[in-house]
Amino acid sequence: MNKPIVVIGGGAAGLIAAGRAASMGKQVVLLEKMHRPGRKLGITGKGRCNLTNTAKYSEFVKYFRRGRNFLRPAFYTFFNQDLQDFFREQGLSLVVERGGRVFPNSNSATDVIDVLVNWAKKHNVDIRTNSAVQKIALENGCVKGVEYIRKKDNKDTSGKKQYIEANAVILTTGGASYPATGSTGDGYKLSGDLGHSITEISPGLVPLEVEDDICSDLQGLSLKNVNLQVWIDGKKKQESMGEMLFTHFGISGPIVLSLSSYIARALNSSSRVELSIDLKPGLDHNKLDRRLQRDLQNQGKKDFRNLLGGLLPGKLIDACVCQTGILPDKKGSNVSAKERAVLRNWLKDFRLRVSSPRPLSEAIITSGGVFLSEVDPKTMASRLVSNLYFAGEVLDIDADTGGFNLQAAFSTGWLAGGSAAN
Ligand SMILES: Cc1cc2nc3c(=O)[nH]c(=O)nc-3n(C[C@H](O)[C@H](O)[C@H](O)COP(=O)(O)OP(=O)(O)OC[C@H]3O[C@@H](n4cnc5c(N)ncnc54)[C@H](O)[C@@H]3O)c2cc1C
Repeated sequence: MNKPIVVIGGGAAGLIAAGRAASMGKQVVLLEKMHRPGRKLGITGKGRCNLTNTAKYSEFVKYFRRGRNFLRPAFYTFFNQDLQDFFREQGLSLVVERGGRVFPNSNSATDVIDVLVNWAKKHNVDIRTNSAVQKIALENGCVKGVEYIRKKDNKDTSGKKQYIEANAVILTTGGASYPATGSTGDGYKLSGDLGHSITEISPGLVPLEVEDDICSDLQGLSLKNVNLQVWIDGKKKQESMGEMLFTHFGISGPIVLSLSSYIARALNSSSRVELSIDLKPGLDHNKLDRRLQRDLQNQGKKDFRNLLGGLLPGKLIDACVCQTGILPDKKGSNVSAKERAVLRNWLKDFRLRVSSPRPLSEAIITSGGVFLSEVDPKTMASRLVSNLYFAGEVLDIDADTGGFNLQAAFSTGWLAGGSAAN
């Protein structure tokens, strides 16, 4: 009897890998530990699923902090236009929004899951849910089979041990963030048991906690068009321009998320991380000084505190008064040149000290994973174990928001499925 290709994990990467291998005529079994596949896909893009991005290859790869070169063959094989064509061929209409983000026209991530599941089933993929894989068995350095626990349903606490022989195994168990979706980091143990190395795991695309209690006062404040610089142990390392948000514990928003995995890694190595917010990035120090001089003169009779309304969002005024040390009832015309310089520096360099990232369970992605040098990027095959393949977030891949992470899961899944079938 022919042994099947066994795919472990029915997320974005697993569903497309299973369907691809089955569409090439192979017998495929997909083992998913949750009671239905695609749980994480269902919450992507706030339930709308930003499944890819229309950026050109040269731009697209710039959004990857980890895995950029590794992904080249996978993207070459199955890239953003191929993915859009695939979904449209399956009857799913798509829309492209601001920043090239692609969503289903229905605004429903469930439709994306349905397309993938139906496509896999059409090609006779045997999808076994409530099936949690515990071990990949080897014989002479080659995949032999998979041990898993099968439950009757998600309330069944006993579960029966099962074994399935496998011709090849594709490991697509995802990362370790949002564990309620089933992505609990099992793939790190499963591949680690086979001798694969796992890089340091840390939260990616995650909000940050800040030491100063200033943030709880600023909760709900959204700053648009600010420049955020990351200072590590007193050295400027990264910066990003755009929107950020204050929350009860610290900060979030697009530019914070996109810098977060870098910051989380720095904090892991116990570095001191400070953020410098330039609230007036459009004005250099000279121009800003002239503007302040004009405002202080023109409104010389106003209290300093009231003057700030023209310069800052209301919620930031108390922080500015407190941190610059300028008396709130000082008249504008009495603010000295030295005080003006303090104010200018504060507006160009409002500092926050980051204490920690929010936990991995709240991160959009897991930064880190299976060591890329142990996987052949042309096939997604393990370089250590024969007939073992990897795809998706279980690998050490990490990209920004905008549809890039899902495209990486789909591209590597497609390539792994095709390679295993070959
Ligand atoms: C809130 C949120 C929003 C997001 N929005 C977007 C977005 O809009 N666009 C985007 O590009 N990316 C987004 N992402 C990231 C994206 O969801 C992931 O990068 C992507 O889902 C990774 O796909 P994957 O198939 O590798 O893993 P997953 O989708 O995590 O799938 C892994 C599957 O493996 C199963 N599994 C795990 N262990 C076992 C085991 N032992 N046995 C059997 N099965 C197992 C899990 O149950 C799960 O179904 C978002 C993530 C989150 C958390």
